[in-house]
Amino acid sequence: MIRFGVAGIPLSCKWRSLKEGVTFVKQLNLDAMEIRMFKDLGLEEEDLKEVGETAHFHGVQLSAHTPSYIDFSDDERDTSIEKVINCGEAASMLGADVLVTHGGFYSLDGSLDNTTESIREIRSYFSENNMDVRLGIETMGRPDVVGSLEDVIQICKKVKGTIPVLDFAHIHARTNGSLQTVEDFEKVFKAVSSLRLKEYYIHFSGVYFDESGERYHLPIKRDTPKFECLAQVLLKHEYNARIICESPVLEHDAQYMKIILDRVKEKAYAKAEK
Ligand SMILES: [Zn+2]
Repeated sequence: MIRFGVAGIPLSCKWRSLKEGVTFVKQLNLDAMEIRMFKDLGLEEEDLKEVGETAHFHGVQLSAHTPSYIDFSDDERDTSIEKVINCGEAASMLGADVLVTHGGFYSLDGSLDNTTESIREIRSYFSENNMDVRLGIETMGRPDVVGSLEDVIQICKKVKGTIPVLDFAHIHARTNGSLQTVEDFEKVFKAVSSLRLKEYYIHFSGVYFDESGERYHLPIKRDTPKFECLAQVLLKHEYNARIICESPVLEHDAQYMKIILDRVKEKAYAKAEK
């Protein structure tokens, strides 16, 4: 099954509350929403549970995303851990199954140690408090932060209850535009195959990048990278995936990706009929 969703409340949703946003996602015929916890949601437990119930009723799968600035190095470590745990508590009340976060910076020796240990500490807290939320570790678009595909795989191998968040725009930007063909996309799935994921959690959009990596996100139609290649891989291998659109034209592009996926299906069907 391939599900499509949006990062945050749809732009065309006049009502800016999460509850209305979830209902709007359903009306757009999408199936998922990644709630951005970049600022305090300002909601009590009761409200969060109500949003979760609305999502459940409409069949909209909720996930969440912590604030972007995360730093697990010495000075900021405790604050960052606390930030992620607070988001985890809210995510748990919402019934979100994944909390996406960033890996922060490399340790002084250039290793992943600070990040891995901090993620382990956070996940232990989740387990001890019966919070059924997996931590999604995102691939990042700039080489100076933790989040190459290899980094993410290493962390997920070492810490139980974590999954990779395959942000293809970020992978493309960080590797100087390496995602050009269907085979290039297949390599990404091959790299994470040892994690035996039942569903791939994906971020997708176009991306503008330069030698220092990701600069900003672009609409899907810019084909950097090409969604059609990803669609072909997903269909060919019958992968289950949740694709969260992060394009500047949010829901418009989530629906556009659905259309591209359908076109790829049609083409494959027409070919088989010949
Ligand atoms: Zn992110």
